[in-house]
Amino acid sequence: MQTKELKTTCSYCGVGCGIIIKKDSQNKVYVEGDKDHPVNKGMLCSKGMNLHYVANDTFDRILYPEMRWSRSHLRERVSWDDALDRAASVFKSIIKKYGPDSVGFYVSGQCLTEEYYIANKLTKGFLGTNNIDTNSRLCMSSAVVGYKKTFGEDSVPGSYADIELADCFLITGANPAWCHPILFRRIEKHKEENPDVKIIVVDPRKTDSANFADLHLQIIPGTDVVLYNAIGRRLLERGLTDYNFIKNHTENFESYKQQVLATSLKKASKICGVSEDDIKLAAEIIGKSNAFISMWAMGLNQSVVGVDKNFSLLNLSLITGQIGKPGAGPFSLTGQPNAMGGREVGGMANLLAVHKDLFNETHRKEVADFWGVKEISSKPGYTATEMFEALEKGKLKAVWIICTNPMVSLPNSGRVEKALQNAKFVVVQDISHKSDTAEYADLLLPAAGWLEKEGTMTNSERRIAYLPQGINPPGEAKADVEILCDFARKMGFNGFNYRNTEEIYKEYCLMTKGTNIDISYLSYDRLKNEGTFQWPVSDYRHTGTARLFEDKKFYTPSQKAIFNVPYGIENASVKPNSEYPLILTTGRIRDQWHTMTKTGKVARLQTHYPNPVLEINPVDAYISKVREGDVVEVKSRNGLVRVRAKVTGNVREGVVFLPMHWGKQLESDLNRSNNLTNIIVDPQSKEPDYKFTAVSVNKY
Ligand code: SF4
Repeated sequence: MQTKELKTTCSYCGVGCGIIIKKDSQNKVYVEGDKDHPVNKGMLCSKGMNLHYVANDTFDRILYPEMRWSRSHLRERVSWDDALDRAASVFKSIIKKYGPDSVGFYVSGQCLTEEYYIANKLTKGFLGTNNIDTNSRLCMSSAVVGYKKTFGEDSVPGSYADIELADCFLITGANPAWCHPILFRRIEKHKEENPDVKIIVVDPRKTDSANFADLHLQIIPGTDVVLYNAIGRRLLERGLTDYNFIKNHTENFESYKQQVLATSLKKASKICGVSEDDIKLAAEIIGKSNAFISMWAMGLNQSVVGVDKNFSLLNLSLITGQIGKPGAGPFSLTGQPNAMGGREVGGMANLLAVHKDLFNETHRKEVADFWGVKEISSKPGYTATEMFEALEKGKLKAVWIICTNPMVSLPNSGRVEKALQNAKFVVVQDISHKSDTAEYADLLLPAAGWLEKEGTMTNSERRIAYLPQGINPPGEAKADVEILCDFARKMGFNGFNYRNTEEIYKEYCLMTKGTNIDISYLSYDRLKNEGTFQWPVSDYRHTGTARLFEDKKFYTPSQKAIFNVPYGIENASVKPNSEYPLILTTGRIRDQWHTMTKTGKVARLQTHYPNPVLEINPVDAYISKVREGDVVEVKSRNGLVRVRAKVTGNVREGVVFLPMHWGKQLESDLNRSNNLTNIIVDPQSKEPDYKFTAVSVNKY
């Protein structure tokens, strides 16, 4: 075996584990965990340790551009020149006829930062529309609003290093034992070595994370605000709060206090299905801890009240003063490897790069000047679900989809299909024919995958890593930045003549200068030679920032953190009724990633959970006359799924669970959980309500 080693980062979740790549004489890739990496210290989870299969297997890869002239024709192989000439000519004619807001880009938290940056610059700076959104909208946008309104900017305060310094964890709306496994291994190890460390898990399911907890609060879906407010009330009643911190470093405490005191523990207990004793115990554990971390993921964010859930959880860190100190702070667990990088470059329809504000005229001008364009539109673009709604209604005519599979991942798949059918022009830029969305492409572009291109990513703890190119892409596949820059030049835009990816990175770094996410002193060379860095990195010798807000100065105008009072305590999801009496919640399983275009082709990752099953509580199974292994029909107001039932006490009564990974298999789309989910979104974050759909379950 050839032993030349390359250091890179896992391409799956936001934990951001370090990987060492080795290649043999046939260029076959082998992976192992990087023992020197600060995140994983050599460990990899099942997905990460099987990444070499994905890199070595090119069987399903899109190898050359394919195009069709009309929907009645099959796509045919074309040259890159012809493909991008056609894309440019269609985009130009649509923009000329309908204006710049008639085109849009839908990108991904798996894009590298340089790709995200270029897609954003191209769309907002040069096409003249803010219609660029990302599948991170489905993931972290509620947390983004929570951070911005509480701290003044979208800033994750802490570090993974705080795990080993904490003595209390509140893990809510997340199952890190399966979805962020290496992070959870660190929590497990810390608790094993320090048995006094307490772990509270909030989840309607008894997950592996919940089974490890000291206290599991098996909440009724959608009632999180009530629960965290009740814990807040109890902390206040018991005096387990940090009044100096509240007085000196926060605003709006009285409004918060008024809201939490308005609901008794008894009433809260009834609403959220958690006993009063357990609420009291949770408050006692949190209030008496020295260093308290809250961790959350989609259970909070993917909700019609996702921002309110974030506010109510963040308020627990404020009330206890548990922020900006070792082992403490709120910590959102990003689902995708570079969702953070995307947020940094402003890769969403309502954001600008380097945390500048789209609604601020000065900020828009600064960005426009930096890119050398006349202006940035003040009109926010379509968010993910809005984009597909606009396609369906004919307001958006052309969409360019990069590195994401909305046919499986967006809510209400039936409407997504109609939207793609109704679009005048669909470009899909991806690595795999397995993407269900590829079927709808008028232009299919082969992209380079992980290890086939270079760039940077930022993990959940603000840690930036450089990912080198280790192998060549198959066929005619190209790096996403190359494709986008070629397209921009075909459109006649100046400003995309980069000689390499590093020049794009340097341009972005320059843009960060003087901001709170300043990495203007972090070069590719430093990343290659010194390893990963947590932003900000404020000078040439700076080694990165493990923790924000240690000086208790926040990014708000007053430099104080703000208690945001949730709009109300009611969940605004579409409620169950006699026709649809159960609440469906969806989520990940341990060994699969997103829509399975990569992990789905690794045989050993199929063994843990080979087929999608509906988890149903024994009481609900009895009422529905369903037995273990029966094929059941799950129906909602939007559609139908047909899978086998798994009768289990792990899911609470009244709730059923489906994994979110499966798309169209064996010509059937009846495995797809998003046939059922609603296109309703949080009004502030526009994040969809995946965790609460009213359904019926019947034996088929
Ligand atoms: Fe990759 Fe996440 Fe597993 Fe680490 S925990 S190896 S980043 S999937």
